[in-house]
Amino acid sequence: MRHFPKAELHVHLEGTATPSLIKNLSLTKGIELNPKIFSTDLSRFVWNDFADFHNVFEEFFKTITSKDDYALMAYLYLAQLAQQNCVYAELIVAPFHAIQRDIPYEHMLQGLSDGIEKARAEFGIESRILMALMRHYGPTMAMHDIKRITEQCHPLVVGINLVGDITQYEIKAFEQVFDHARSKNLHLSCHAGEIDGGPKEMWQAINILGVERISHGVSCLEDSKLVETLIEKQITLEVCPSSNVILKMYPSYAEHPLRKLKDAGLLLTLNTDDPGFFNINLTHEYIVAQQYFNFSEQELLAATQQSIRAAFIEEPLKRKLLEKTNYKFTF
Ligand SMILES: [Zn+2]
Repeated sequence: MRHFPKAELHVHLEGTATPSLIKNLSLTKGIELNPKIFSTDLSRFVWNDFADFHNVFEEFFKTITSKDDYALMAYLYLAQLAQQNCVYAELIVAPFHAIQRDIPYEHMLQGLSDGIEKARAEFGIESRILMALMRHYGPTMAMHDIKRITEQCHPLVVGINLVGDITQYEIKAFEQVFDHARSKNLHLSCHAGEIDGGPKEMWQAINILGVERISHGVSCLEDSKLVETLIEKQITLEVCPSSNVILKMYPSYAEHPLRKLKDAGLLLTLNTDDPGFFNINLTHEYIVAQQYFNFSEQELLAATQQSIRAAFIEEPLKRKLLEKTNYKFTF
C-alpha cells in the first residue's frame, strides 16, 4: 500500500510535526518542554482527551519560532508523503499560530514556500496552501485575517478553511468572510459535520458560505436531503477515518460510516488530519479503508483521483497528476 498512488486534501501542517522533530528543535534552541508530552521512546505525543490534545499542542509549538521552522515542517511532511507515492497535497496552515508567536505572516509564508519548493525540486510532489481561519475567535478576527491573506496574495495560497472549536460561533456568522475570500478568487473549504457538528452546520457551509468541499462531513448521513444535495452539487468530503476514531467521534472503525458514505454515492477522499499527533500516515488511512471498510483497489484509486479532481488547482495540472496515478480518465 505504501506505493499505491495517493493525494491528500485535509492535513493541518501544525499537526504533522513529529515528536522527534519537536525534540530536536527544543534541544537545538534550548527551549525546555514538559517531558510528559513525549512517550519515553519518543515515538508519540502523549495526550488523553481533546483538551489535553490542545495543551500538548501549545507546549510543543513553543519550538516553532521562525520561517525556517515552517519551511522544515512543510518539507519534512511533503518528503514523507512523496515516499508514500503521494503526488499532491494541500496543507492547511493557521496564520494565527505564527502571529501569536511573533512570526510575521510574510515570514511564515516565505518559509512555507521554501519548504514546498524544496520538496517539489527533490521529489516532484506538488503542494498548495489553504489558510485556516479560527472559528472560535469569531468573524471579526477572521475578517482581519482574510484581509491580510488577500492583501499579500501568493501563488501557492489557493484557498481557505474554517477550523477550530465549534461551540461559540455558528458557521453562518462567517458569510462575509467567505464572500470576501471568494471575491479574491480563493477556493473555499470548511470543517463541518464532525464531532458535535450535525447536518445543520453542513447546510450552512453549503448554502451560506458556498464551500466547494467539506472537511469531514461524516454526519451528513443523518439527513438524506443533505446527502442528495452533496451529490447534486458535487461537493467532496475530506474524510479522516482515524482522526474520527482517535478523537472518539466513533468508538471504533466498526461504527465509522466510511463504507456507508461510499455506498451512498458521495465524493470521498482519504486524509490524515493531524498525522503527527495521531502517529499515523496517509498509507495507514488507505490500509484502514481497505481492511475495515473493504475498499477495493478501484475504490482506493477513486479516492486518490477524487482528491486530484477536487484539488484547488488548474485543470492542466490536474491532468498531469492524474496521469501520474496511471489511471485512465476522461474529462
Ligand atoms: Zn481538520
